[in-house]
Amino acid sequence: MGDRIRSTFGPDSEAVSKPQTDTPDPAAAQGDPAGTPDPPARGHDASRDRTEPPANHGTRGAEGFVGYAGEPLDGNIPDGDPLTAWARRKLEYKLISPLNRRKFKVIVVGTGLAGAGCAAALGELGYNVVSYTFHDAARRAHSVAAQGGINSARARKVDNDSLERFVKDTVKGGDFRAREADCFRLGEESVRVIDHMDAIGAPFAREYGGELRTRSFGGVQVSRTYYTRGQTGQQLQVAASRSLQRQVGLGTVDLRTHREVLDLIVDDGRARGVVVRDLYSGEIEAETAHAVVLCTGGYGNVYFRSTLAHNSNVTAAWRAHRRGAYFASPSYIQFHPTALPVSSHWQSKTTLMSESLRNDGRIWVPKKSGDERPANQIPEDERDYYLERKYPSYGNLSPRDISSRAAREEIEAGRGVGPLRNSVYLDFRDAIGRLGRKTIEERYGNLFEMYFDATGEDPYTEPMRIAPGAHFAMGGLWSDYDMMTSIDGLFVGGEAGWGYHGANRLGANSLLSACVDGWFTLPYSIPDFLAGHLGEAPLSLDHPAVQETMAEVRERTERLLSIGGTRGADHFHRELGEILYSGCGVARTEAGLKDALERIRELRGQFWSDLRVPGTGRQLNQELERAGRIADYLEMAELMCLDALDRQESCGAHFREESQTADGEALRDDDGWCFVSAWEHTPGRDVHPGKPVRHVEPLDFRAVPLQTRNYA
Ligand SMILES: Cc1cc2nc3c(=O)[nH]c(=O)nc-3n(C[C@H](O)[C@H](O)[C@H](O)COP(=O)(O)OP(=O)(O)OC[C@H]3O[C@@H](n4cnc5c(N)ncnc54)[C@H](O)[C@@H]3O)c2cc1C
Repeated sequence: MGDRIRSTFGPDSEAVSKPQTDTPDPAAAQGDPAGTPDPPARGHDASRDRTEPPANHGTRGAEGFVGYAGEPLDGNIPDGDPLTAWARRKLEYKLISPLNRRKFKVIVVGTGLAGAGCAAALGELGYNVVSYTFHDAARRAHSVAAQGGINSARARKVDNDSLERFVKDTVKGGDFRAREADCFRLGEESVRVIDHMDAIGAPFAREYGGELRTRSFGGVQVSRTYYTRGQTGQQLQVAASRSLQRQVGLGTVDLRTHREVLDLIVDDGRARGVVVRDLYSGEIEAETAHAVVLCTGGYGNVYFRSTLAHNSNVTAAWRAHRRGAYFASPSYIQFHPTALPVSSHWQSKTTLMSESLRNDGRIWVPKKSGDERPANQIPEDERDYYLERKYPSYGNLSPRDISSRAAREEIEAGRGVGPLRNSVYLDFRDAIGRLGRKTIEERYGNLFEMYFDATGEDPYTEPMRIAPGAHFAMGGLWSDYDMMTSIDGLFVGGEAGWGYHGANRLGANSLLSACVDGWFTLPYSIPDFLAGHLGEAPLSLDHPAVQETMAEVRERTERLLSIGGTRGADHFHRELGEILYSGCGVARTEAGLKDALERIRELRGQFWSDLRVPGTGRQLNQELERAGRIADYLEMAELMCLDALDRQESCGAHFREESQTADGEALRDDDGWCFVSAWEHTPGRDVHPGKPVRHVEPLDFRAVPLQTRNYA
């Protein structure tokens, strides 16, 4: 992969190198082999690389950054008209005859919307699929949590929507840091996604006459979001899991539940399989195949208090990263503006109130800071509907990054509400007055019930209280247009990937991207890769690459169990979350990020010397599972902060206070930063990961010209 390296932090880089010398490394002290260097990164076919260097790929960066070197990273995007690019690429893909498909085995990790779709589609086509999830059933994947809806550019409403408008909204919503070509594919396949999910049983809301009903989400002025009350993800997941189970019944998919993938087997630069732990017996097992797909979800839970389930994690993606898969834009994290506020230090989660509520709810704070009157006693002229005031065109449906930042500004200026003064109001008084309680109940009844259960407050009679909470990872494993990572034969889909959402995801575009990847992209691009490997067998289980990877997983597991310290894994996770919220949160500064980096390294040192994991590895041991995931978060968090420190511009959810307009809006620097940073791991130990190398993929906007984002 060396020939594709773009640029590195220099040896004097304070951001990268200095703290690595001042944190003790217990692994090194004990001579523990678990810190053995990982193999060097490998890339795929260099002949696909572009030849011309990008004009704008950053000669600036964090202190010590040495600038451009080598060939650009190639996204392998079809040339020519972006409108027809995906159709042309699909025609170029090689096919595999139905008779030969059963000769191939594909491992799909994850059974969420992306993984279940991919495994079911490949199974239906006749491939042998092994599907893994750490859950006890496919349908428990985190996609079930999604509430609000799924977008589609079907333009069924007469509101001037179109594929081009979908792409424009998505590219602009992501603040021009997404890959435009991927956004076209997303929009184009979105039409089929709705028909397909409808056909396999997703009960979308309908108009009285039977047509599918839509509503609006943030960052758009049309109505293109399909939904099933406040349970869209659950209903889509049930439909996808049912398709997966059908293939299990037909014998094409071997579904292995309560198995956690703990490492990737790479041999000769190619992904050959995975090493998993059976979460009930503790057995370490290996499986090999012709290709591996990671659909393992997002890593927003690195912030501890997030809208994700507590067991969402980055482990599979991070272990693949350590084996050579590049990590794109790790610092692009979405803070959802309508999460429930934190009400106590001991709280372990934040709950999401769907963005769909912003269709009818109005967001406001008292004009006077420190106003302690109950909401209903604050007269109209003493309320500041700040989103409607600042962004009159989009108002309460302004994109998430902008809405979250605006809420933070109000809270920091002392106008926050609630016992801890850390939230803003989301008020349905006017909507109930206009539409009646029954209509509001029909639209959002289950969300209102959820709010009442969580807070004891009745949102029909007093406003909800909401606050920004860590929610969605726009970053993820870097992949090219065909969804192959920088490791041959390793593909990525869903939230674990990076392509569509740039620096800020539009609401309801993520269920869509998971479905597009799972059903309508990976099942085409994976066979194209497999076609070159007809007649090859998967690695045998006694191959040295398999045995060595298994041994490393066993060693790491033993090491976590043997530290014998005093603190449980959750202690370190909570601390890490606090460091990240303050240092790498809704707003970031150079000083704050440097401080966060120091603190993360210190915390990682404490983790490896003071962790306590009770029980053994030969049984169900959730503390052990958690410890492994937190160990990976502690490394991942460092890369997030490095990426945020390196990127000296503001874009979307990555708001560097040093880079803002006079009005306090994000100030992009397209001359310096119009590229995606894709980080390569270099060998190192757990406490001291090696210095990451930054590769860049220049971003090319052909259909939606670069412009300043404006929602006013
Ligand atoms: C509360 C909430 C509400 C949301 N609402 C919306 C919405 O309204 N609209 C929208 O578009 N998006 C929404 N999103 C985002 C969206 O739900 C997700 O981005 C999307 O569902 C992710 O799907 P996925 O298939 O990539 O991953 P997931 O559904 O998270 O599935 C991940 C799978 O990987 C498995 N896995 C992970 N690691 C391992 C491992 N190491 N070994 C084995 N298995 C592993 C898990 O068991 C699981 O099966 C919401 C997210 C949240 C948290």
